[in-house]
Amino acid sequence: MDYERQPYRRCGRSGLLLPAVSLGLWHNFGGGKSLDSQRAIFNKALDLGITHFDIADRYGPPFGAAEATFNRLLPRSLRDEVVVTTKGSNPMWDGPYGKGNSRKHLLATLDRSLARLGLDFVDIFYLHRDDEETPLEEQVATLDYMVRTGRTLYVGVSNFSPERTAQAARLLRELGTPLLIHQPSYSLLNRKIEHGLLGVLEQEGVGCVVYSPLAQGLLTDRYLDGIPADSRAAEARFLTPDRVTPEVLAFVRSLSELAASRGQTVAQLSLAWALRDPRVTSVLVGASSPEQLEANVAAVDRLDFTDDELAAIDRAAKE
Ligand code: NDP
Repeated sequence: MDYERQPYRRCGRSGLLLPAVSLGLWHNFGGGKSLDSQRAIFNKALDLGITHFDIADRYGPPFGAAEATFNRLLPRSLRDEVVVTTKGSNPMWDGPYGKGNSRKHLLATLDRSLARLGLDFVDIFYLHRDDEETPLEEQVATLDYMVRTGRTLYVGVSNFSPERTAQAARLLRELGTPLLIHQPSYSLLNRKIEHGLLGVLEQEGVGCVVYSPLAQGLLTDRYLDGIPADSRAAEARFLTPDRVTPEVLAFVRSLSELAASRGQTVAQLSLAWALRDPRVTSVLVGASSPEQLEANVAAVDRLDFTDDELAAIDRAAKE
């Protein structure tokens, strides 16, 4: 583990530091990929000082597979050098208790996650999404209970609105279990959190780890000459080819020049851009190869932006 390779940033007003670039296991860690290729990405992450691995009960395919893979990849001697997360809420099994944010489902799904991970506890457990049909009081009381029973050290929410995040933070504070972190989507192609959520997180002292900062690969040079057969858009499960539009490609081309003038690729510029805001603790990237991960972590070599550069990016986004 090279702890000099990248900065570790404070997660909100907590005691926890997270690497500027974290690795997510949504793709590439399920069945259908060889353990060797998964090990190569995981070991590269460790080399690059990535101490934070983002997982969820559903990540695979099949559901649960990414947790089982992580169990095989993590040497137990490194358990205290990494932050391991999982999430619950999305449908996992049949029937009324197989999904949602009821206490009944959440405790069961976390216990199944811990069994697959081969761990006594995770470092962060997230509500993967809000569940308007379950009282927020029940949702947060379950998070508090998970901490008190030693199943997780910290708790977070993902995909919650600014208003519900503020409410959850207040309720959790009353219970004595602070809301550590929020996990929203954020990239140059999706700037919604700038209009409300980031302000709430700052006010509440909650950290922010942003997912899909490369818009699943759109904000890279991957699609400039068509859709490669081994790309996520070709797989067409979560990123469909119709999202590779002429407008997106024109935006990426216009960013390329600016990136080159900074000595960066479009991917590196996009990650550095997301990290320019101190309220963003970490960017959560995916990678289908060790080379992609290495290139992405190199974004931290140039995190500063001039006002002119930021204005040029905003102009390009509006064109
Ligand atoms: P990214 O936006 O970083 O997309 C990753 C994909 O982009 C890679 O799989 C690869 O695609 C391509 N890519 C990455 N680096 C490069 C590069 N340097 N050059 C060219 N292409 C590159 O993030 P993800 O969408 O994968 O999300 C990251 C993590 O966020 C997930 O693993 C998960 O942990 C979390 N997440 C959470 C969600 C939530 O609801 N809480 C929802 C979605 C994600 P290819 O396979 O084509 O090579």
